[in-house]
Amino acid sequence: MQLIGMLGGMSWQSSALYYRLMNEAVAERLGGLHSARVLLHSVDFQGIEKLQHEGDWQQLSDQLSTAAVGLRNGGADFIIIATNTMHKVADALEETCGLPVLHIVDPTGHALISDRRNKVGLLGTRFTMEEKFYRQRLETLFDVEVVVPEEPDRLDIHRIIYEELCVGTVTQQARNRFAACISALRERDCDSVILGCTEITMVVDTTNSTLPIYDTTGLHATAAVDRAIAAPKT
Ligand code: GLU
Repeated sequence: MQLIGMLGGMSWQSSALYYRLMNEAVAERLGGLHSARVLLHSVDFQGIEKLQHEGDWQQLSDQLSTAAVGLRNGGADFIIIATNTMHKVADALEETCGLPVLHIVDPTGHALISDRRNKVGLLGTRFTMEEKFYRQRLETLFDVEVVVPEEPDRLDIHRIIYEELCVGTVTQQARNRFAACISALRERDCDSVILGCTEITMVVDTTNSTLPIYDTTGLHATAAVDRAIAAPKT
């Protein structure tokens, strides 16, 4: 099994979910006492969030790339960035660290294609919903139409992610708010919705939603395990 290099802590709430999901997936596939081989660099999210909102993506790219080089030097075979938003710097990071990055969009895109989805709603931070880096990969590599919520919904989702979910606060109000955003996307003819932020799964019930859900946390964690198990150790 390959060693998964994970850039986490963005936030640690979702990194904890990744850790559990990856270990469960390995146990399910290999049985016995098998568990995931993971090398984790978990950042202090306070500084990351500040740089994001100041728009200093160069500094963010440099910091995460340095962390990824550390993972490579520690023996990681490939990298996962356990946040959608920070994939804004994925290309630069991949080039600097010299290891392949398992991009979070790709397992989601493959799942959408295999389920024949055409028009997908995207929930995430404002960076993920409003900038090109994320939706463009979905549109160009997977040929799906991407729809984002209207502005008031986008502002609310962004606020709930940073002020509540990233600090582990889960309220019924937030659950209702996300359910309403998903229903609004359905009204706009979306056939599915991407939870394009790794904390949103904390407040969306995937079994009881008005649209089929594609949860990037689960899909990404599972894809990492698939890759680690399938590929020979380097
Ligand atoms: N985990 C979130 C995401 O998937 C947001 C936190 C961050 O900005 O990295 O986008």
